[in-house]
Amino acid sequence: MRKFLIAGNWKMNTTAASGAELAGAVAAQAGELSAVDLLVCPPSVYLAGVKAAIGDANVALGAQNMYHEASGAFTGEVSADMLKDVGCTHVILGHSERRHILGETDEDINKKTKAALAAGLIPVVCVGELLEEREAGKTAEVIQTQFDGSLAGLTAEQVAGTVIAYEPVWAIGTGKVATPEQAEEVHADLRKLIAERYNAATAEAVRILYGGSVKPDNATELLGQDDVDGALIGGASLKAADFVAIAKAGVELSK
Ligand code: PEP
Repeated sequence: MRKFLIAGNWKMNTTAASGAELAGAVAAQAGELSAVDLLVCPPSVYLAGVKAAIGDANVALGAQNMYHEASGAFTGEVSADMLKDVGCTHVILGHSERRHILGETDEDINKKTKAALAAGLIPVVCVGELLEEREAGKTAEVIQTQFDGSLAGLTAEQVAGTVIAYEPVWAIGTGKVATPEQAEEVHADLRKLIAERYNAATAEAVRILYGGSVKPDNATELLGQDDVDGALIGGASLKAADFVAIAKAGVELSK
């Protein structure tokens, strides 16, 4: 059985002080939540401070992005080794805001995914369709193209160690949540695709998170789907009580 991963994407929010307070509040309750894995992803400038606030608690630290090169003249970028150096174990890659606002392509995400894995970071690779793509019946095609492009050239073992996040773009930050059936359909398709591209054991091992307006009141239904292995949470991860409530839904379902 795959352990739920409950991940918070803080996006470009918090201050040094409020981020440390938020992480500290989550860390304080992590002991009761050990049936699930917890991950917080603050803005990169606050990673070290958040790591200090987490202390020894069982809360993993992730970044929201990185560059694929190891070092050098890449002004404004941070590398996988730098993220590891400040205590990250995970990095979100290809979030829809990076794809659609900052113009990242599957090829960019693929380079970053390979660099993250080479450095020993766990990539959380995001895929998801736009509303017009869903309405045109292209969801499966879009997801397949993003999956193939973003994970091209990886071994089965590397894929098994990667987290995939299905985030329908129309559900991110909009309050419009995919129905549990809509989420499960894409998650099951993704798992089938992984089995076809790699093998059944890899497909069984990969954790596929759902993201898009996950809140305490819809978490149980979403996490209750067979192929939903956790959540990538934006807005609700900024309130410790909401993030913990979603994690508790995962704890209950793990019993
Ligand atoms: C996200 O940031 O990945 C996300 C899903 O945001 P929200 O939960 O606010 O929709």
